[in-house]
Amino acid sequence: MDNARAGFIIFRWFSFYIIHCSLSIKMPILNNRLTAEQYEQNFSDIHPPFDSREAALVEANRCLFCYDAPCTKSCPTSINIPKFIKQITTDNVKGSAYTILDANIMGGGCSKVCPVEKLCEGSCVFNLLEEPPIPIAKLQRYSTEKAITHKWPLFQRKPSTGRRVAVVVLVRRD
Ligand code: SF4
Repeated sequence: MDNARAGFIIFRWFSFYIIHCSLSIKMPILNNRLTAEQYEQNFSDIHPPFDSREAALVEANRCLFCYDAPCTKSCPTSINIPKFIKQITTDNVKGSAYTILDANIMGGGCSKVCPVEKLCEGSCVFNLLEEPPIPIAKLQRYSTEKAITHKWPLFQRKPSTGRRVAVVVLVRRD
């Protein structure tokens, strides 16, 4: 290796080292902190829960249980939405939670953060009637939260395959 090339490599490593050090220096928390109200607003629920069982039943009973339901077609996980809503109307909340989680094991979390106005609720037929769509996310949350709170054993754990999965989390420090 000639001297010019060796010098170039040393220069590059030195540059990386300087950049790495400068990124590692903890920056002080400056002004621009959010106010308590802004935190409250930014971290509040997108789809807050129903106030009561009756409120959930009123909304569930508005559903038309469409054949070839457009809401299900719009769901990336193809949850059978009319089915789980129907199960809520008959107070079969456990069955409803099963229907949701069988299609999407993350159904509880999705009910809180999914952009439903662009997906299932956005395609609900009530939009065509210029009426509020069925609050599918809130109904999904209603069922899945009950299942989680009561620790209903909806699924059986399969025997171990002996394999392991590693989860790597990268934390960025600014
Ligand atoms: S499109 Fe709306 S009314 Fe029809 S099944 Fe889905 S949620 Fe119910």
